[in-house]
Amino acid sequence: MAEREFIRIEDLRFSYEPEEFALRIPSLSVARGERLALIGPSGCGKTTLLSLIAGILLPRSGRIEVDGLEVPGLSDAERRRFRIGRIGLIFQEFELLDHLTVRENILLPYYVNGALRLDGAVTERAERLAGTLGIDHGLARRPSALSHGERQRVAVGRALITEPALLLADEPTGNLDPKNREAILDLVFSEAATRGATLLMVTHDHSFLPRFDRVVDFERFGAEGAAR
Ligand code: ADP
Ligand code: MG
Repeated sequence: MAEREFIRIEDLRFSYEPEEFALRIPSLSVARGERLALIGPSGCGKTTLLSLIAGILLPRSGRIEVDGLEVPGLSDAERRRFRIGRIGLIFQEFELLDHLTVRENILLPYYVNGALRLDGAVTERAERLAGTLGIDHGLARRPSALSHGERQRVAVGRALITEPALLLADEPTGNLDPKNREAILDLVFSEAATRGATLLMVTHDHSFLPRFDRVVDFERFGAEGAAR
């Protein structure tokens, strides 16, 4: 593995039961600190790829290495620890917990991973992030009491709180107005730059593409790749 290589995918094959959709990625490498945009039509497998990199889904065959770790080879518990400790995931569907407050949702990684220590500095950081995201007024509320766009920003806060080495963002600006879209993108990019984090972002907003180091179009994986 080249020294600066952070993600390496080789001959990756995945399909959902009962094989209605098959994903094949012959090869994809991402450098440490690189900011990569993933584009492609709806249903081509972008969310699936992020889930495979995060170890939420397991491939049929092939390699997925993240920072030298062979992700599919880890045990369930190790994959979970790796995901919560090292990856900031902004899910397309947010996946917020409505029995918790917005503040607790942002701090969630600290409740579910014993290796992460929740202290005063972390709670301060959560409040600072909420301020930057424009959701500090809602910290004590439940996510369901917030607008769609506000909930999306809670998901962004939860992804950034652990200062992850890898940020996987699935259409993080999809539900936002232009002003908030710009602000969220600025925040994600500046957090990534400050920590030298690697950023993979699925986006349909082509006006943002010049901000990335590289754009990977799923079309390039061709007929035997992303589509069937
Ligand atoms: P994208 O994010 O590019 O829109 P997805 O990765 O979400 O695409 O989905 C790729 C394909 O896999 C789609 O055809 C979708 O319907 C299908 N798919 C997604 N999730 C599941 C699932 N849990 N079970 C079966 N098929 C799924
Ligand atoms: Mg998707």
